[in-house]
Amino acid sequence: MKTTNKRIYLSPPHMSGYELGYIKEAFESNWIAPLGPNVTAFEQGVAAYAGANAALALSSGTAALHLALRLLGVEQGNYVFCSSLTFIGSVNPILYQGAVPVFIDAEPESWNMSPVALDKAFEWAEQIGKLPKAVVIVDLYGQSADYDSLQSICNRYGVPVVEDAAEAMGATYKGKSCGTFGKYGIYSFNGNKIITTSGGGMLISDDKEALDKALFWATQARDKAPWYQHSEMGYNYRMSNIVAAIGRGQLQVLDERVNAHRAVFERYQQVLGDIPGVGFMPEAGYGRCNRWLTVMTLEPEICKVQPMQIIDALDAENIESRPVWKPMHLQPLFANNMYFTHEKDYSVADALFSKGICLPSGSSLTEEDQDRVIDVIRRCLR
Ligand SMILES: *Cc1c(COP(=O)(O)O)cnc(C)c1O
Repeated sequence: MKTTNKRIYLSPPHMSGYELGYIKEAFESNWIAPLGPNVTAFEQGVAAYAGANAALALSSGTAALHLALRLLGVEQGNYVFCSSLTFIGSVNPILYQGAVPVFIDAEPESWNMSPVALDKAFEWAEQIGKLPKAVVIVDLYGQSADYDSLQSICNRYGVPVVEDAAEAMGATYKGKSCGTFGKYGIYSFNGNKIITTSGGGMLISDDKEALDKALFWATQARDKAPWYQHSEMGYNYRMSNIVAAIGRGQLQVLDERVNAHRAVFERYQQVLGDIPGVGFMPEAGYGRCNRWLTVMTLEPEICKVQPMQIIDALDAENIESRPVWKPMHLQPLFANNMYFTHEKDYSVADALFSKGICLPSGSSLTEEDQDRVIDVIRRCLR
């Protein structure tokens, strides 16, 4: 019998030990305000890791996405195409700009934006004479979308891509880092992401000048004048030097964290993968997932068990798990928005929502803890 019943979380923060060193430096030099050497070093570190020209450290991934959309000139009444199977953080910035999200289904191979559905959406937009101002493509649960296919469609219509790699830091597509595939890419360092600063985000791009403009907006859009003068609307979106200190320490162990998340995934798959009706999020052949979260699926005709039954059973054992993101086109907030599916009369995103479960996947998850999770799942599926 189990001797301990401590809470097991989905993807809790996992500090490396290096963070405190940078924080201590910041305290000793009194760089407690926003700005400071940690911010610059963290930006340079992330840009170098990803292979991008420039990076801008911000208060959240959502803020980064908001600035990306504003840089692309997204404004009131514009359409923006966006993956439906995602977290609301991918979509809220579209609303901040007064624009209208149009949702695109997932494909079964990667669970990311379907090129087939995207094509259909563009055909519709062209027909009504109103192309979108941008396409936000999400790398779900740490897996890259199929950028060659998606980009070629967007290029055909001359519409820029923003890559929402909030969940996909450390993942790759054809050997290149996720986050670098659009005109702009964003990362999140929220508490449960693969690396965390307690909260924060990053905007990355090869266009250094554009990021300078974003920096201007992110720091209240202050004109060059001896007094506080403003000609444009800005935000308070900058990352602080203390927060960036945590980021520097985390970045040093990013590759280790990815390997640990992948090991957790492999163990789940090895131990549970043979149960009839049980599956896992596939890894598309073109890239390497960071396996931020392990997502298990239950085929309803075979398993006779609903994901919520397993989620409740895990919760009774003090284990956190959750359903796959509820697709955006199913949200009450977007009841009137357009949605384009991968297949006629069949939504891949709906199917994944109804059969998927996100399992505890932290890089600090011990084999003992993972066994607790596995035991509950086995019991439910017997
Ligand atoms: C976490 C997340 C965001 C938002 O990031 P924050 O730093 O929490 O603002 C955006 N998109 C996706 C897909 C996410 O998972």
